[in-house]
Amino acid sequence: MKHNLKFYLKNRLTANELKFAPSSFDVVGDILIFSEFSKELAKKEKIIGNTILENYPHIKTVLKKINKYAGKFRTPKLKVIAGENRKETICKENNVFIKLDAEKVYFSPRMSSERKRIAGLVKPNESVLVMFNGCAPYSLVIAKNTKCREVYGIEINPIANEYALENIKKNKLENKIRLFLGDVRKVMPRLNKKFDRILMPLPKGGENFLDLALRCIKKNGIVHFYDFLHEDEFHKAGEKVKSACLKSKRKFRILKTIKCGQYSPRFYRVCVDFVVD
Ligand code: SAM
Repeated sequence: MKHNLKFYLKNRLTANELKFAPSSFDVVGDILIFSEFSKELAKKEKIIGNTILENYPHIKTVLKKINKYAGKFRTPKLKVIAGENRKETICKENNVFIKLDAEKVYFSPRMSSERKRIAGLVKPNESVLVMFNGCAPYSLVIAKNTKCREVYGIEINPIANEYALENIKKNKLENKIRLFLGDVRKVMPRLNKKFDRILMPLPKGGENFLDLALRCIKKNGIVHFYDFLHEDEFHKAGEKVKSACLKSKRKFRILKTIKCGQYSPRFYRVCVDFVVD
């Protein structure tokens, strides 16, 4: 993109309308998604969408979020404002292809650097579990870029799990990734297996599943616990880990607490990496 969106909209909107023009968006494959779209521009959405299609040739569809991530599946409601009438796309990140429907499956391209960070920590021969697997972005990136032994992924949204299956085939990772459809509360006890590393990418309410992760983590294994917190309250993520470990009678040591994405002004996605003795 040579210029930002406002540059291209200069001749299409009035000076006042331009003030409300959205400045940030996500690109997932060939789809561009606006998270915040001002009500003042409701009548101009087609013009804005078409301006994007004319100036960013790799974008085929423009969507706007009309409802934020919600419900158990953490999916948004999206509206097509220009281009092809579809919400399915294939994106590429960290050496893998990920196919998904942006409305039926949770996915955030903003987490690609966090996925890369986690993959960078995985050691040869590790057994990794991704609770809340979605369409499998973490599983794919870890299986493709590390020498892990295996990755297990558990997901409750059947459509996300279908895409995960397709993504495993598309990336030829059938030998490394195993998928389980269902609630982690039901699936994990049935696996009867312990892991070297467990990822918990469910930042809203993930603390309610820490007991499960602690039951399935090996001695000296590492858990990555995600949380959404105000910037003044990052310590609360560590407190949640401490409280769960006390209840489960497991000794733990926090290795790192990092910011890995902004969720709204002054609220961040935080990851606590901790080792369990
Ligand atoms: N890991 C994926 C990613 O990063 O794109 C998805 C993350 S999304 C924030 C959380 C996912 O957890 C959703 O796909 C949702 O359907 C799933 N989920 C929520 N509760 C669950 C549960 N109890 N058991 C299994 N999956 C669950």
